[in-house]
Order: sequence, then C-alpha cells, then structure tokens
Amino acid sequence: MKDLLQHAQHIVILTHMAPDGDAMGSSLALWNWINAAEPQCKRAGSVSVHVIVPNAFPAFFNWMPGADRVHVYEKESAACNDLIAAADLFLCTDFNDPKRIGPVGEKMIANPCPKILIDHHLMDEGVKRLADEGFWTEVHSHPEASSACEIVYKLLLKEERINAAELQCTRAKGTCITEAVASCIYTGLMTDTGNFSYNSTRAELYDIIAALLRAGVRKDVIYDAVFNQYSEHRVRLTGYALYRKMRIYPDYHLALITLSADELEQYHYQVGDTEGLVNMPLQISGIYYSVFMREERAKPGTPKSRIRISFRSQGDRPVNIWANEVFHGGGHANASGGELFGTIGQAVRLFERTFPQYIKK
Ligand code: 5GP
Ligand code: MN
Repeated sequence: MKDLLQHAQHIVILTHMAPDGDAMGSSLALWNWINAAEPQCKRAGSVSVHVIVPNAFPAFFNWMPGADRVHVYEKESAACNDLIAAADLFLCTDFNDPKRIGPVGEKMIANPCPKILIDHHLMDEGVKRLADEGFWTEVHSHPEASSACEIVYKLLLKEERINAAELQCTRAKGTCITEAVASCIYTGLMTDTGNFSYNSTRAELYDIIAALLRAGVRKDVIYDAVFNQYSEHRVRLTGYALYRKMRIYPDYHLALITLSADELEQYHYQVGDTEGLVNMPLQISGIYYSVFMREERAKPGTPKSRIRISFRSQGDRPVNIWANEVFHGGGHANASGGELFGTIGQAVRLFERTFPQYIKK
C-alpha cells in the first residue's frame, strides 16, 4: 500500500451503494488523509484524489469533511467515468463484491490499474474466487473488525509510521490523522456498531476511540449530527411503520415491516429516512429477527419496481444465507441485505414461503 500510494497520481476511492456512515467515513478518512499528507510531502500538488459513490448519501452525512466534494455516480456519470478511466489506483472500502457498487464496478473492472480492498464483510464463494484470481492487488479483509473505518485507522497509523521514516514528510503536528480524518473514522465506528451497542466488544476498539478523541474528535457533536437532525416527516414515517406496518410472527421470533413507494411519498421520503428502522422491532422481547422491505418505483424504461430488503438478527441466528440464497444479497451474519424486482406482495409471499427454512424457531 505504501508503494502504491507513493507512486499513484490519480487516486479514486470507491465505496458501496446506499452509502452508510462506515462507507462515507472510510472513504472520506482516506480522502482527507491523502489531502493532509500530500501538501507536506515531496510530491505536493502532483496527486489527485476523488471519492465516488454509486448513488446519493443521506443528508445527515453532509457535515462530514469533504462530503461536498464526493461525486455521486448516478448524478454525474460522465465525469465519474472519466475519473475512473484515468485512475492509476483504486482504494475500495466497505464492500468486497464489485456488484455492490453497481455500474461503477464495471467501469472499475475495465481499468487494469492496482486496486486495494479494505473491508470487513465475509467473502462469499464468488468473491473469494475473485480475490484468489488476483483481482485485488492488495486485500485488507477483516470480518472481525467493527467497521471498515477501524481497518482504515490501523492502516493509516501504520502508513504514518512508514511515511514518517521513509518519505521524510515534515508534518506540523507529526501526524496526518487530523481532526477531519479522525472524525470520519469515528463516524464509521459509531454507525456500524449502532453507537457501540453491537459488534463492539473488543477492547481494542476503545483504544482507537481514545486515540481519535485525542486527535480532536467531538463525539457528542458527531452523534448529534448523525442521529438528531431528522425531519419531522421521518419521525412520523417511523411511527407509521411501527404502528401500522409491522407484522409479528411470534412462533418464529420474527418481525416484518414493509413500506410501499406510495407510503414513502406520503411522508416525503428522503434518502436515509428508513435507516435504522429495521433494528427497532428487535427492541421487542422475544423478537430476534427483523426484516424490512422498501419499494423503489421502477426507473423509466424498466418494468418492475425494486424491493430493497434489510435483514437483522441477534445472536447465533444468521440471516445472510437467507438474504443470499433467496434475495440475491448477503452481508454479515446479523445484518444483511438483498433485493427483489417485482411487487411488495411478491416479496412478502417469497419471504413467508422461505422463512421457516432459514429461521431458528
Ligand atoms: P442494509 O440493510 O443496512 O442495507 O444492509 C446491511 C448489511 O448487509 C450491509 O452492511 C451490507 O454488509 C449487507 N448488504 C446489503 N445489501 C447487500 C447485497 O446486496 N449484497 C451483499 N453481499 N451484502 C449486502
Ligand atoms: Mn461497514
């Protein structure tokens, strides 16, 4: 990674569709770090670095340093295609399957330059094969990590030590883990662990948090920016979903929430408004599985709407196999996603037909 970073001139950072805090945090941490390192290094001004996300990210990440410079592929695909074609290094964070970055994946594959993977998802068979075939120049895959941000932090720290010794960067504060970098990393740690309520039992994580606080992270300000800036519509949509749209299957310890495109429109849905909704039924005693389906209206020229499905579970009750085998998705054992092209009704029928096979009673 050190050599690759040292020689790259046009770095493109990519992260997954429907970017979450870890996707935004890990990609922007790298972006800010490279920008902080470069002016003080020998190659000042010689490097361009861009973050490209496949589609829009929620407004509650707008405050992140560099968020205003992120390219959204869906909105500016021509400019993004040029950047991707001209790249001489890709840094890919918080995903391991090129399919998770949609059309960006095909463009990345078309460019044979080095690609570094930084991720914490389990690799499924296809993804393992891709890695074995040497698709990635370097793989930093740590499913035990809380987040991609945790891995980015460790890589940057290591890189810092190498840089300090070998690149002779003279840095004002002796570090490029600036407050901006640290704030991005903290955001991913916070969001991927549900504000440290799951995936967060390793003590090492709190050593990292301590270091980030020393680097200037204002954790309460970040919490407030991400979790306390919702619209009134969003909170009412949550109320409607829980009150009117939640079905419980008590024998299976399972809850299902569905929201149609019409219902979402009624509540002025904005990207990110249903973030976290799938976790709420797990607050019910005796509910260990939760599934949420959200309809996205068919795009012009396509016949079917897309049903985006989120799966959550607690403890030793994996949902990723179900998401993978039935809904063309995958993910972590306790947090997965998938999709179906068709109606909500079709998705619910498929869900009801298959859950007895995949759920522990
Ligand atoms: P969410 O429900 O928040 O959209 O997704 C939860 C987790 O499931 C994500 O962190 C991601 O790891 C995984 N995931 C979501 N959708 C997909 C998908 O289509 N394929 C795979 N492999 N993983 C997914
Ligand atoms: Mn993540």
